[in-house]
Amino acid sequence: MTTATPKTVIVTGASSGIGAATARRLATDGWHVIAAARRTDRLIDLVADIRQDGGSAQAEKLDVTSRGDCTDLADRVATEHGHLDALVANAGVMPLSRLDAGLVDDWDQMINVNIRGLLYGIHAVLPHFARQGAGHVVTVASVGGLQVTPMAAVYCGTKFAARAITEGLRLESDPTIRVTTVSPGVVETELADSITDLDAVDLMRDYRRHSMPASVIADAIAYALGAPADVDINEIVIRPTRQR
Ligand code: NDP
Repeated sequence: MTTATPKTVIVTGASSGIGAATARRLATDGWHVIAAARRTDRLIDLVADIRQDGGSAQAEKLDVTSRGDCTDLADRVATEHGHLDALVANAGVMPLSRLDAGLVDDWDQMINVNIRGLLYGIHAVLPHFARQGAGHVVTVASVGGLQVTPMAAVYCGTKFAARAITEGLRLESDPTIRVTTVSPGVVETELADSITDLDAVDLMRDYRRHSMPASVIADAIAYALGAPADVDINEIVIRPTRQR
Protein backbone atom coordinates (compact mmCIF):
# COMPACT_ATOMS: atom_id res chain seq x y z
CA MET A 1 0.00 0.00 0.00
CA THR A 2 1.60 3.28 -1.05
CA THR A 3 -0.62 6.35 -0.84
CA ALA A 4 0.14 10.03 -0.19
CA THR A 5 -1.56 9.79 3.22
CA PRO A 6 -0.79 6.37 4.60
CA LYS A 7 -3.27 4.66 6.88
CA THR A 8 -2.50 5.08 10.56
CA VAL A 9 -2.35 2.27 13.11
CA ILE A 10 -1.68 2.42 16.84
CA VAL A 11 0.23 -0.66 18.04
CA THR A 12 0.25 -0.97 21.84
CA GLY A 13 3.09 -2.86 23.50
CA ALA A 14 5.33 -2.04 20.54
CA SER A 15 8.54 -1.87 22.61
CA SER A 16 9.25 -5.62 22.32
CA GLY A 17 8.07 -9.00 21.05
CA ILE A 18 4.92 -9.26 18.97
CA GLY A 19 4.21 -5.52 19.09
CA ALA A 20 7.65 -4.56 17.79
CA ALA A 21 7.49 -7.21 15.03
CA THR A 22 4.00 -5.98 14.08
CA ALA A 23 5.15 -2.36 13.94
CA ARG A 24 7.98 -3.34 11.58
CA ARG A 25 5.74 -5.49 9.41
CA LEU A 26 2.94 -2.91 9.09
CA ALA A 27 5.43 -0.17 8.24
CA THR A 28 6.76 -2.40 5.47
CA ASP A 29 3.17 -2.70 4.20
CA GLY A 30 2.93 1.11 3.97
CA TRP A 31 1.11 1.94 7.22
CA HIS A 32 2.12 4.92 9.35
CA VAL A 33 2.76 3.17 12.66
CA ILE A 34 2.22 4.80 16.04
CA ALA A 35 4.45 2.61 18.21
CA ALA A 36 3.17 2.91 21.79
CA ALA A 37 4.42 1.53 25.11
CA ARG A 38 6.07 2.70 28.37
CA ARG A 39 9.75 2.03 27.43
CA THR A 40 10.34 4.96 25.11
CA ASP A 41 14.05 4.17 24.64
CA ARG A 42 13.04 0.93 22.91
CA LEU A 43 10.41 2.71 20.84
CA ILE A 44 12.86 5.38 19.68
CA ASP A 45 15.28 2.67 18.45
CA LEU A 46 12.44 0.82 16.74
CA VAL A 47 11.18 3.93 14.96
CA ALA A 48 14.73 4.79 13.84
CA ASP A 49 15.06 1.28 12.35
CA ILE A 50 11.71 1.53 10.59
CA ARG A 51 12.60 4.93 9.10
CA GLN A 52 16.02 3.64 8.05
CA ASP A 53 14.19 0.93 6.10
CA GLY A 54 12.02 3.56 4.38
CA GLY A 55 8.96 3.14 6.60
CA SER A 56 6.92 5.71 8.49
CA ALA A 57 6.49 5.58 12.27
CA GLN A 58 6.41 7.63 15.46
CA ALA A 59 7.12 6.67 19.07
CA GLU A 60 4.51 7.45 21.73
CA LYS A 61 4.78 6.87 25.47
CA LEU A 62 1.63 5.07 26.58
CA ASP A 63 0.52 3.25 29.70
CA VAL A 64 -2.59 1.34 28.60
CA THR A 65 -3.85 1.26 32.20
CA SER A 66 -4.40 5.01 31.99
CA ARG A 67 -7.75 5.74 30.36
CA GLY A 68 -6.76 9.39 29.84
CA ASP A 69 -3.49 8.45 28.12
CA CYS A 70 -5.31 6.14 25.71
CA THR A 71 -7.92 8.74 24.81
CA ASP A 72 -5.33 11.51 24.46
CA LEU A 73 -3.21 9.40 22.10
CA ALA A 74 -6.12 8.40 19.84
CA ASP A 75 -7.41 11.98 19.70
CA ARG A 76 -3.95 13.35 18.91
CA VAL A 77 -3.34 10.82 16.11
CA ALA A 78 -6.73 11.55 14.56
CA THR A 79 -6.10 15.31 14.72
CA GLU A 80 -2.50 15.22 13.46
CA HIS A 81 -3.07 12.73 10.65
CA GLY A 82 -6.73 13.44 9.85
CA HIS A 83 -7.66 9.80 10.38
CA LEU A 84 -7.05 6.88 12.72
CA ASP A 85 -7.54 3.65 10.83
CA ALA A 86 -6.67 0.77 13.16
CA LEU A 87 -5.72 -0.29 16.68
CA VAL A 88 -3.60 -3.35 17.40
CA ALA A 89 -4.37 -3.93 21.09
CA ASN A 90 -1.34 -6.04 21.90
CA ALA A 91 0.07 -4.83 25.26
CA GLY A 92 -0.03 -7.63 27.81
CA VAL A 93 1.66 -9.18 30.84
CA MET A 94 1.78 -12.76 32.10
CA PRO A 95 3.09 -13.08 35.69
CA LEU A 96 1.85 -16.66 36.19
CA SER A 97 1.34 -18.41 39.53
CA ARG A 98 -1.04 -20.79 41.31
CA LEU A 99 -4.01 -19.08 42.93
CA ASP A 100 -2.95 -20.33 46.38
CA ALA A 101 0.41 -18.54 46.00
CA GLY A 102 -1.65 -15.42 46.67
CA LEU A 103 0.25 -13.06 44.37
CA VAL A 104 -2.65 -10.63 44.28
CA ASP A 105 -0.57 -7.71 42.97
CA ASP A 106 0.30 -9.83 39.92
CA TRP A 107 -3.41 -10.62 39.38
CA ASP A 108 -4.20 -6.90 39.55
CA GLN A 109 -1.49 -6.12 37.00
CA MET A 110 -2.85 -8.73 34.54
CA ILE A 111 -6.41 -7.47 34.97
CA ASN A 112 -5.32 -3.85 34.57
CA VAL A 113 -3.14 -4.34 31.49
CA ASN A 114 -4.81 -7.27 29.70
CA ILE A 115 -8.46 -6.31 30.30
CA ARG A 116 -8.69 -2.65 31.30
CA GLY A 117 -5.94 -1.72 28.83
CA LEU A 118 -7.87 -3.39 26.01
CA LEU A 119 -11.12 -1.69 27.01
CA TYR A 120 -9.47 1.73 27.28
CA GLY A 121 -7.97 1.27 23.81
CA ILE A 122 -11.34 0.34 22.33
CA HIS A 123 -13.00 3.26 24.12
CA ALA A 124 -10.36 5.64 22.74
CA VAL A 125 -10.65 4.64 19.07
CA LEU A 126 -14.39 3.97 18.66
CA PRO A 127 -15.52 7.63 18.37
CA HIS A 128 -12.99 8.15 15.56
CA PHE A 129 -14.06 4.96 13.77
CA ALA A 130 -17.72 6.02 14.06
CA ARG A 131 -16.98 9.50 12.66
CA GLN A 132 -14.93 8.07 9.77
CA GLY A 133 -17.33 5.21 9.05
CA ALA A 134 -14.36 2.84 9.08
CA GLY A 135 -11.85 1.28 11.44
CA HIS A 136 -10.32 -2.00 12.55
CA VAL A 137 -9.52 -3.35 16.03
CA VAL A 138 -7.11 -6.29 16.25
CA THR A 139 -6.83 -7.81 19.72
CA VAL A 140 -3.86 -10.02 20.58
CA ALA A 141 -5.43 -12.58 22.92
CA SER A 142 -3.86 -16.03 23.44
CA VAL A 143 -4.54 -19.75 23.24
CA GLY A 144 -4.88 -19.14 26.99
CA GLY A 145 -8.20 -17.57 26.01
CA LEU A 146 -9.35 -20.88 24.56
CA GLN A 147 -8.09 -23.32 27.18
CA VAL A 148 -7.21 -22.97 30.89
CA THR A 149 -3.94 -24.40 32.23
CA PRO A 150 -2.74 -24.73 35.84
CA MET A 151 -0.69 -21.72 37.06
CA ALA A 152 -2.47 -19.58 34.47
CA ALA A 153 -5.97 -19.19 35.94
CA VAL A 154 -5.85 -15.40 36.11
CA TYR A 155 -3.90 -14.94 32.87
CA CYS A 156 -6.34 -17.24 31.04
CA GLY A 157 -9.21 -15.37 32.68
CA THR A 158 -7.91 -12.11 31.22
CA LYS A 159 -7.51 -13.69 27.77
CA PHE A 160 -11.00 -15.29 27.86
CA ALA A 161 -12.19 -11.77 28.71
CA ALA A 162 -10.18 -10.27 25.84
CA ARG A 163 -11.80 -12.70 23.37
CA ALA A 164 -15.28 -12.06 24.79
CA ILE A 165 -14.88 -8.28 24.68
CA THR A 166 -13.51 -8.39 21.14
CA GLU A 167 -16.30 -10.67 19.91
CA GLY A 168 -18.84 -8.45 21.66
CA LEU A 169 -17.39 -5.44 19.87
CA ARG A 170 -17.75 -7.23 16.54
CA LEU A 171 -21.39 -8.12 17.19
CA GLU A 172 -22.28 -4.61 18.34
CA SER A 173 -20.37 -2.75 15.62
CA ASP A 174 -21.64 -1.10 12.52
CA PRO A 175 -20.53 -3.24 9.51
CA THR A 176 -18.01 -0.55 8.52
CA ILE A 177 -15.91 -1.53 11.54
CA ARG A 178 -13.83 -4.68 11.41
CA VAL A 179 -12.78 -6.69 14.45
CA THR A 180 -10.18 -9.45 14.68
CA THR A 181 -8.91 -11.63 17.52
CA VAL A 182 -5.47 -13.19 17.08
CA SER A 183 -4.72 -16.00 19.55
CA PRO A 184 -1.07 -17.07 19.56
CA GLY A 185 0.47 -20.15 21.13
CA VAL A 186 4.03 -19.91 22.43
CA VAL A 187 6.00 -17.07 20.85
CA GLU A 188 9.64 -16.26 21.56
CA THR A 189 9.39 -12.88 23.36
CA GLU A 190 10.06 -11.28 26.74
CA LEU A 191 6.59 -12.23 28.04
CA ALA A 192 7.73 -14.88 30.53
CA ASP A 193 10.15 -12.34 32.10
CA SER A 194 7.18 -10.87 34.01
CA ILE A 195 6.79 -14.12 36.06
CA THR A 196 7.74 -13.63 39.71
CA ASP A 197 6.69 -17.07 41.03
CA LEU A 198 9.64 -19.53 40.96
CA ASP A 199 7.45 -22.64 40.38
CA ALA A 200 5.89 -20.93 37.39
CA VAL A 201 9.33 -19.99 36.04
CA ASP A 202 10.30 -23.71 36.13
CA LEU A 203 7.06 -24.82 34.47
CA MET A 204 7.36 -22.23 31.73
CA ARG A 205 10.92 -23.28 30.90
CA ASP A 206 9.50 -26.63 29.72
CA TYR A 207 6.19 -25.31 28.31
CA ARG A 208 7.94 -22.67 26.22
CA ARG A 209 10.51 -25.11 24.73
CA HIS A 210 8.86 -24.96 21.30
CA SER A 211 8.13 -21.44 20.19
CA MET A 212 7.46 -19.36 17.09
CA PRO A 213 9.16 -16.10 16.12
CA ALA A 214 7.10 -12.95 16.75
CA SER A 215 7.15 -12.25 12.99
CA VAL A 216 4.66 -15.12 12.49
CA ILE A 217 2.05 -13.27 14.53
CA ALA A 218 2.95 -9.97 12.85
CA ASP A 219 2.27 -11.61 9.47
CA ALA A 220 -1.17 -12.79 10.67
CA ILE A 221 -2.05 -9.31 11.93
CA ALA A 222 -0.91 -7.79 8.62
CA TYR A 223 -3.08 -10.34 6.77
CA ALA A 224 -6.18 -9.40 8.78
CA LEU A 225 -5.55 -5.65 8.39
CA GLY A 226 -4.81 -6.02 4.69
CA ALA A 227 -8.02 -7.90 3.82
CA PRO A 228 -10.51 -6.08 1.55
CA ALA A 229 -12.79 -3.63 3.42
CA ASP A 230 -15.80 -5.93 3.01
CA VAL A 231 -13.96 -8.93 4.50
CA ASP A 232 -13.54 -9.27 8.27
CA ILE A 233 -11.07 -11.91 9.44
CA ASN A 234 -12.76 -12.61 12.78
CA GLU A 235 -10.37 -14.95 14.51
CA ILE A 236 -6.92 -16.47 13.93
CA VAL A 237 -5.34 -19.16 16.16
CA ILE A 238 -1.65 -19.92 15.60
CA ARG A 239 0.42 -22.47 17.50
CA PRO A 240 3.88 -23.91 16.95
CA THR A 241 3.28 -27.25 15.20
CA ARG A 242 4.72 -29.08 18.22
CA GLN A 243 2.48 -27.32 20.77
CA ARG A 244 -0.57 -29.36 21.86
P1 NDP B 1 6.56 -8.87 25.51
O1 NDP B 1 6.77 -8.94 26.99
O2 NDP B 1 7.75 -8.96 24.63
O3 NDP B 1 5.74 -7.57 25.14
C1 NDP B 1 4.73 -7.06 25.96
C2 NDP B 1 4.50 -5.62 25.57
O4 NDP B 1 3.42 -5.10 26.39
C3 NDP B 1 5.73 -4.74 25.81
O5 NDP B 1 5.95 -3.95 24.69
C4 NDP B 1 5.32 -3.88 27.00
O6 NDP B 1 5.86 -2.56 26.86
C5 NDP B 1 3.80 -3.82 26.83
N1 NDP B 1 3.13 -3.43 28.06
C6 NDP B 1 3.09 -4.08 29.23
N2 NDP B 1 2.42 -3.34 30.15
C7 NDP B 1 2.05 -2.20 29.51
C8 NDP B 1 1.34 -1.04 29.90
N3 NDP B 1 0.87 -0.89 31.15
N4 NDP B 1 1.13 -0.06 28.99
C9 NDP B 1 1.62 -0.18 27.73
N5 NDP B 1 2.29 -1.26 27.28
C10 NDP B 1 2.50 -2.25 28.18
O7 NDP B 1 5.53 -10.05 25.22
P2 NDP B 1 4.72 -10.47 23.88
O8 NDP B 1 5.19 -9.74 22.71
O9 NDP B 1 4.73 -11.92 23.86
O10 NDP B 1 3.24 -10.01 24.30
C11 NDP B 1 2.38 -9.32 23.44
C12 NDP B 1 0.97 -9.87 23.59
O11 NDP B 1 0.95 -11.20 23.10
C13 NDP B 1 0.46 -9.95 25.03
O12 NDP B 1 -0.88 -9.51 25.08
C14 NDP B 1 0.54 -11.43 25.36
O13 NDP B 1 -0.39 -11.81 26.35
C15 NDP B 1 0.23 -12.02 23.99
N6 NDP B 1 0.64 -13.41 23.83
C16 NDP B 1 1.96 -13.76 23.86
C17 NDP B 1 2.34 -15.09 23.74
C18 NDP B 1 3.77 -15.53 23.83
O14 NDP B 1 4.02 -16.76 23.93
N7 NDP B 1 4.75 -14.63 23.80
C19 NDP B 1 1.33 -16.14 23.52
C20 NDP B 1 -0.02 -15.66 23.48
C21 NDP B 1 -0.34 -14.34 23.61
P3 NDP B 1 6.43 -1.64 28.03
O15 NDP B 1 6.88 -2.54 29.14
O16 NDP B 1 7.54 -0.89 27.37
O17 NDP B 1 5.27 -0.76 28.39
